[in-house]
Amino acid sequence: MTQRAGRVVVVGSFNVDHVWSVAKLPDTGETLAGEYHTGPGGKGFNQATAAARAGADTVFVCALGDDIGGQLARALATADGIDLRDAHSHAPTGTAGIYVDADGRNCIVIGAGANASLSPAFVADQHDLLGSASAVLAQLESPLAAVTEALRIACAAGVVTVLNPAPANAVASPELLALATVLTPNETEFVALLGRAGIDSPTADAIGGLGDDALHALCRRLHPRGSVVVTLGAAGCFVSHAADALRGDTSGTYRIAAEPCQAVDTTGAGDAFNGALVAALASRPGAAFAEHVTFANRYAGLSTEAEGAAASMPRQADFQARFG
Ligand code: ATP
Repeated sequence: MTQRAGRVVVVGSFNVDHVWSVAKLPDTGETLAGEYHTGPGGKGFNQATAAARAGADTVFVCALGDDIGGQLARALATADGIDLRDAHSHAPTGTAGIYVDADGRNCIVIGAGANASLSPAFVADQHDLLGSASAVLAQLESPLAAVTEALRIACAAGVVTVLNPAPANAVASPELLALATVLTPNETEFVALLGRAGIDSPTADAIGGLGDDALHALCRRLHPRGSVVVTLGAAGCFVSHAADALRGDTSGTYRIAAEPCQAVDTTGAGDAFNGALVAALASRPGAAFAEHVTFANRYAGLSTEAEGAAASMPRQADFQARFG
């Protein structure tokens, strides 16, 4: 397990997730009964929680409303030792309405609320924080101008940046993608990025079945100067690592198989992976990239054994009990 060392800054969203488990997803105009639960979510907060629980000194840059959702975020951040830099929005805290059917299929509607007010100016105010971090992590669930500003500041200071290009329907500019030391798409996001870059690729379902050389070639065309880690769900991940991306490391193309796990809920597995990866990068900057990815792969696997998004992120003791 990583030691508590270098500081991670996560820039992103917080949502209160409202989840209904239903036998089937509703048709237009249909009223259904379902089992309801609520909990914290938002890709940014999930990833910040993972980074903190994986051992990193973690700061979360976000925008929360002055309401019960914002209070929840502040209380949870305090409990996990996450330092919040909150832009204090007048809008309601972000929400997500989620229906999940018996087969695990879902429909999600996100009300960005306060998340939409995270501005480049507020991010620019965090200049010293971002420029002195060991690693900066962001996603595409926040205003892209703010995300771009964060990565621009980090890059200018030589700080390692990880961009999780999720959700797949968010359109990152070529400038934003180029600011990432490491890109971490899942298969769907990878295919969406390739399509927007005008690069032919098979469907998302077929990505994991491609040979390593073919996958590597796609990664190199998409992100010529940085590394790409394509997460493949229960198949683990594929790594196309560029030597220049991280000082002192060597290039490599390889797969890491998923850890054998008793998965009960894979929601937030990608967030677990990203938070753990950045915690590892920050904590052991001299270690080989493959070691960081192996840690993230194990951490994400373990997260699937608990229900929920942020709530399912393993703590250090749980990780040590499993992996030593
Ligand atoms: P989500 O959107 O649910 O957060 P994602 O689609 O972004 O997830 P995945 O590619 O599904 O991300 O999974 C991320 C990582 O989680 C994988 O690379 C792997 O390390 C781990 N993982 C996911 N599912 C399993 C599983 N069934 N068993 C073990 N590990 C898993």
